[in-house]
Amino acid sequence: MDLAALIRNVPDFPKKGIQFKDITTLLLYPDAFREIVDGWKKRYSDGKITVIVAADARGFVFGGALAYAMGLPIVLARKKGKLPAETIAAEYELEYGTAVMEVHADALKRGDRVLIIDDLLATGGTVKAIAELVRKLDAEVVEAAFVVELPPLGGRAKLAGIPVHTLVEFMVE
Ligand code: AMP
Repeated sequence: MDLAALIRNVPDFPKKGIQFKDITTLLLYPDAFREIVDGWKKRYSDGKITVIVAADARGFVFGGALAYAMGLPIVLARKKGKLPAETIAAEYELEYGTAVMEVHADALKRGDRVLIIDDLLATGGTVKAIAELVRKLDAEVVEAAFVVELPPLGGRAKLAGIPVHTLVEFMVE
């Protein structure tokens, strides 16, 4: 299926110069959603992954479906202040300033083998911060999977050392 054709480009959102890749249009096509989740399920069917960690917020949609399909636990990596119990935090860079990702301190344990899921890889800052949190809890990042990659933004290089798997590339910044 041509997944790229189902992703809407919204120019100048949330600010001028950004080409926003909107996956909500893809989600209107259940066959496309199923193809993504079933493809990942097959890719990770060797039993190596023990936990999925999904990125706030669109990562929850794909990560949640995959966790259900695979019968795996899912951990929510959330933006600062959203998780109710004790958390650990990692800061990451935005275009202007910084932001913070958190997970519950008891969400992962030593030896867990993690697949990180998000909708889109841009600069890689978000998932780099999540990988830091995974390692702080003595778990291992096996791979990070995304629906979309924007190669000109250099996310793969930023995630050096973490295998990255993506399905659709757009050569935009
Ligand atoms: P980054 O940390 O730069 O890799 O940014 C990734 C996060 O920001 C993901 O959770 C995406 O949903 C969101 N994001 C960044 N840039 C875009 C874009 N051009 N279109 C859609 N989402 C984006």
